[in-house]
Amino acid sequence: MSSYKEIVLRPGKEASLRRFHPWVFSGAIARKPEELEEGETVRILAADGSFLGVGHFQIGSIAVRIMSFLDELIDTAFYEKSLLNAYRMRQELGLIRPDNTIFRLVHGEGDNLPGLIIDIYGDTAVIQAHSIGIHNDMGPVTEALKRAIPADTVKHIFYKSEGTLPYKAGIFPENSYLFGGDGVDAIALENGLRFRIDWLKGQKTGFFVDQRENRALLERYARNRHVLNMFCYTGGFSVYALRGGAASVVSVDSSAKAVSITDQNVALNFGEDPRHTSLPEDAFKFLKQLQYGEKDLIILDPPAFAKHRGAVNNALQGYKKLNLQAMEKIAPDGFLFTFSCSQVISAEQFRLAVFSAAAISGRKVRILHQLTQPADHPINIYHPEGEYLKGLVLRVE
Ligand code: SAH
Repeated sequence: MSSYKEIVLRPGKEASLRRFHPWVFSGAIARKPEELEEGETVRILAADGSFLGVGHFQIGSIAVRIMSFLDELIDTAFYEKSLLNAYRMRQELGLIRPDNTIFRLVHGEGDNLPGLIIDIYGDTAVIQAHSIGIHNDMGPVTEALKRAIPADTVKHIFYKSEGTLPYKAGIFPENSYLFGGDGVDAIALENGLRFRIDWLKGQKTGFFVDQRENRALLERYARNRHVLNMFCYTGGFSVYALRGGAASVVSVDSSAKAVSITDQNVALNFGEDPRHTSLPEDAFKFLKQLQYGEKDLIILDPPAFAKHRGAVNNALQGYKKLNLQAMEKIAPDGFLFTFSCSQVISAEQFRLAVFSAAAISGRKVRILHQLTQPADHPINIYHPEGEYLKGLVLRVE
């Protein structure tokens, strides 16, 4: 039995934990120790004193994120066991191959490790902490990662939690290597395609691993198409479209840095490819001046328009407007790949926004595919909050 401090819940508040939902809301708590620091590991007990789980305490409406439903220590051995599990599943999913060295090893609650994200890029692991508890445990997590994963797989561990920890905690870790760091090879492979990953300065951990399968689907539809990749970031969709035999690909992102990374990634795979052009431009502005019928495959993969519930209505208007612009311009019988990565917007709400755009455009629109996040971004069935990526592939007549 662990000897962590204890939090006791109010009667009836144990039900969701007994169903393995990994969060304790602050309103569910009857008693907690006077002195409890953000990030401390605590034992959770039901009102009748029975054990429910061990987790990290945090300040806010989510008061505890459960790390284990067993009465065990959250130590190096615990993380080693969890990371081995995560690694084995990615192996069984066929994601760890000589031609695929980019994958997400740990997806927070989806891998029963709330607050922890680990992406693998070749022989570098990039770790992001989203809770003080995980931040405090970086020693054991790093040690466990070295033990759980073959030595030639992880030679460098980069910690990137600037800006991901709760601001109020007042902890601002510098992005830095926790292990290795010399002679790093920043080029990694996704389905045989080469990408330079900039975990030092790029967004998130440096790359959007979650679009891998959707990019592969796009590759199948790209032949002879005139492709417009809006919000291209590091150019994932562009590179797949080029391999798929696109006639032309235009990559657009408002960030000049992103556009230049896209150019580099195209060159890494295809050298100077006259089919590809790119420009730094606002997506809405670009779509406005686009000629009708110029493009017959358009990708819309914007940043999350809603980051919290209060922003949902505005975000839905944003998705509607963006999709309407694309539907007004896309060539007859075009393919539109449209996405939302806003966690607070449901698949149903997103589809409704796209429906509204279709109705206003007056065009015939069919849904060919309904897309989501890939298997290395699993969703704990008891924690539907883990579902965030939604996409539709549309045929616009
Ligand atoms: N499709 C990408 C990920 C997109 S992330 C991939 O597969 O990797 C969202 C991108 O949208 C960011 O690179 C950001 O710079 C860009 N962006 C944000 N607002 C924009 C706007 N108004 N117009 C164009 N690009 C924008």
